[in-house]
Amino acid sequence: MSFINHNLSFITVKLKSTATLSGLPPLMKDLAIMWLSKQQQQQQQQQLRNQQQQQYQQDSTGFAYRCDACGKGYQHKATLLRHTRHECGKEPKFKCPYCVHRTKQKGNLYQHIRTNHPGHNVYSSPN
Ligand SMILES: [Zn+2]
Ligand SMILES: [Zn+2]
Repeated sequence: MSFINHNLSFITVKLKSTATLSGLPPLMKDLAIMWLSKQQQQQQQQQLRNQQQQQYQQDSTGFAYRCDACGKGYQHKATLLRHTRHECGKEPKFKCPYCVHRTKQKGNLYQHIRTNHPGHNVYSSPN
């Protein structure tokens, strides 16, 4: 068997350089075709496994992009960029005018005021 394998790998090398099966004895030709199709099958199975693994990894995290510094996940690259540029490792710069609460995003501050200080003007600031 090792003799055949050795010969077949030689044939494969030849096939890659000439890209033809012609000139081979019929038995060798058949064996070569069988061997090649088996190789292709194995490659396809491997690709399928890789695809399934990638799919699983994406599903398990749920995020396509992740911040290297703090591990926060984001669906879009733009959101991740906004996070790394303006949020990550930074002090919250939006301060609630009615209490000590601070937030990194303006929208979050508006949300905070609506929930915690109902009736107050969301947009007014004592600063
Ligand atoms: Zn971060
Ligand atoms: Zn507040």
